[in-house]
Amino acid sequence: MESFDVGPWKISVIKSHILKSKCEGGSPNSDESCGKCNVCRYSSELELPWLPEMVFPNNRLIMEHVGGPGFEFNPLDALKMVDAHHESVQVAAAKEWRATRSEGLEKVKDKVKSFDWTFTTEYNGSYNDKIQVSETDVGIDYERLKVQERIHFFDDIVLFEDELADNGTAELRVKIRVMASGFFILLRFFLRVDDVIVRLNDTRIYHAAGTDHMIREFSKREVKLPNPQLSLSVLKDINKLSEVLPHTNVTKHKLVLLGVE
Ligand SMILES: [Zn+2]
Repeated sequence: MESFDVGPWKISVIKSHILKSKCEGGSPNSDESCGKCNVCRYSSELELPWLPEMVFPNNRLIMEHVGGPGFEFNPLDALKMVDAHHESVQVAAAKEWRATRSEGLEKVKDKVKSFDWTFTTEYNGSYNDKIQVSETDVGIDYERLKVQERIHFFDDIVLFEDELADNGTAELRVKIRVMASGFFILLRFFLRVDDVIVRLNDTRIYHAAGTDHMIREFSKREVKLPNPQLSLSVLKDINKLSEVLPHTNVTKHKLVLLGVE
């Protein structure tokens, strides 16, 4: 774990190994589960029939204010919000999909009745009770963010990733940058099912140093494929894709840091 202080904030980043496939606590030759290790926790707390190929159970970004408010981003809470009973992309219904190399995913999909095998999540972070959330019309001040400024700290933490049996990609990662004027966090779920759909669920959080609140924006974007406007190079470059996709349906929240002057 890497930790450091920025004004009243302690920022911690954990990057660790991927989730093992078998219980880490039990004896190697037994099938019994220990109930405590990450493997056991994930299987008892999640209803999903299987998990992304790469889950980083210990990976986290943790933000703690000296006055008490705190929040973090972790893969378990994100996966709890994946629909364990319904699909979110109807591949079987798409004629285009049937015509393409869909065999791998069809096989995967048929193993169970129905769940969101794209691992789409609207997770926007885990917050303690010292953070009070209310809707607002005030968005993030992007003009302020555009001002050239020295970046004291930057990090990019992957929480989970799956290649959808070679039919695309699904990933959740969180990025942070810290400047003298404040910090900016982007948590992004990115999905591309080849020849079917691209989807971006973004959570952006901005805090101006010295204020008693943060602004959080959440947006969902998706486009069906193929789309003549989206070339292969754009589809493979998430940043470019984000610039091209229309930004609609943004919900904004003010997150007040309780007990902070
Ligand atoms: Zn275990």
